[in-house]
Amino acid sequence: MDSSNQTIMIVEDEPQLANLLRDYLEKSEFRTRIIHNGLQAVAAIRDFAPDLVILDLMLPGKDGISICKEVREFSKVPIIMATARVEEIDRLLGLEIGADDYICKPYSPREVVARVKAVLRRSANDYVDTPAGLVLDESRFLAEWKGRNLDLTAVEFKLLKILAHDPGRIYSRSQLMDRIYDDHRIVSDRTIDSHIKKLRKKITAVVEDEELIHSVYGVGYKFELKSADSN
Ligand code: CA
Repeated sequence: MDSSNQTIMIVEDEPQLANLLRDYLEKSEFRTRIIHNGLQAVAAIRDFAPDLVILDLMLPGKDGISICKEVREFSKVPIIMATARVEEIDRLLGLEIGADDYICKPYSPREVVARVKAVLRRSANDYVDTPAGLVLDESRFLAEWKGRNLDLTAVEFKLLKILAHDPGRIYSRSQLMDRIYDDHRIVSDRTIDSHIKKLRKKITAVVEDEELIHSVYGVGYKFELKSADSN
């Protein structure tokens, strides 16, 4: 994978360590951004939408656990959590805060770069690029159609991703529900229909006569690129 346009955010309160990481990452042709204070981290991640975050556990203002949890409310950006104690890693794993990997201090910057690349490779599998000009970036819930941001909600994004993953395959409403709601909560068919309706509206707003999602009467929905008038 080409790393030249990927941005790594380093959230680390020790300036020397942050700078050392920056130098190594930039040598590997990543772009970097350093945040020293925990209080600025969540907003910075939201604003800059980095491709990966290296997040120190102990930070002034706000600790890494709180930051990680807050970020997971709006983003799936890969997070590597750094901690000073190896026994802390077990505890963090138990908390299920949603970090993708853990590294223990003191670490070699070389090791960190290797981990960054490994985590990015892994998360690249979440990235769906369909031939139809639709780009889905799971780490940011970002969907682009013909180069334009569809500005989807998390549920709309998930629906589109499921359908686009297998063009032509018809999904029933209950199949879609099962895949969207991990907690198996009961939602009515009407809920799916209304999400699909909004999603289709956002898609046709980009190109008026082209639809991506089609309803199959009495069955469900499928993804297919064809003109709306042939539907
Ligand atoms: Ca620290």
